[in-house]
Amino acid sequence: MATSVDARINDELQALQAILINGYAVKDENGVPRAIETLIHPSTADKKEEQFVCVTLEVILTPDYPESSPEVILRNPRGLDDKLVNEIHKKIKEKLDRHVGNPIVFELIEIVRGFLTECNLPSGQCVICLHDFVNGDVFTKTPCYHHFHSHCLSKHLINSKKYYDEELEKLPNWQRSEAIPYKQTCPVCRCELKFDVSTLEQAPPPVDSINAPPFRLTDELRALQDRMAAQLARQIARGGVVGMGDEGPPLLTITTAADKEQEAKASSSAVKPPKVEPRPSTSVEPAPEPERQQCRVPYRGFNRRAKPGRRERGAPR
Ligand SMILES: [Zn+2]
Ligand SMILES: [Zn+2]
Repeated sequence: MATSVDARINDELQALQAILINGYAVKDENGVPRAIETLIHPSTADKKEEQFVCVTLEVILTPDYPESSPEVILRNPRGLDDKLVNEIHKKIKEKLDRHVGNPIVFELIEIVRGFLTECNLPSGQCVICLHDFVNGDVFTKTPCYHHFHSHCLSKHLINSKKYYDEELEKLPNWQRSEAIPYKQTCPVCRCELKFDVSTLEQAPPPVDSINAPPFRLTDELRALQDRMAAQLARQIARGGVVGMGDEGPPLLTITTAADKEQEAKASSSAVKPPKVEPRPSTSVEPAPEPERQQCRVPYRGFNRRAKPGRRERGAPR
């Protein structure tokens, strides 16, 4: 059954098409538009390298839109802290309340774009050093729109490479050649990055870290340390923490159907097969006990941080 679409919505979509060309997506149900989604950047005369923030605007149309206000969602805000996102929401709400009965999507886009243009600098903290971005800081925007002090990002990349090399060193030769090659990744979303570390390294440290008063262990911090130590001890006692210096395969193992078959064969050939409880395919096991069955098949565990690729031969990547 063909459903008719309000002429005002059709006009609005045509206008969006003319202005945004392909910069938006329409989700429809049986040909009836249900939601409009677009990624919004600040106006910088299309100079992408000058855009430090962005957000995805989704406008979900009500069945009688534009006679009632659509639902508006702001997704994946980049370079904007919660306070700024809430301010955009507030402005959108004011606009919606004043314009019930009129197509509104384009004006919503303009409100968000105007806001982003005004606040085209990252707000909030660098997640590596936890210092705010302030005047004079040298920062880097990744292609995934995350921001870090260039100095902090260089330290992160140097350390992640060092960690990778150390882990690779621990692998037997035959596994080294199969390890996933090192890749720089974003510390927030793990998008692949390609930065020249030596250039980043030349950036000065964060301004706030220079001006910060020297660290002092206060009574408050001492009390916090005691509380955390007690909590850690409780978690270790309950088997919830993998021991830091444990020898042998890590306790997180990923089993496949082939492993189970192999395990079944091994146990059926034994004189007195031990009773093995079925386990979920991914299991975090408690701390080893004297009776604990060790892996008989070639080493197939993941290390604690699941890299760089300690796993069985031929396992899917
Ligand atoms: Zn930083
Ligand atoms: Zn990222």
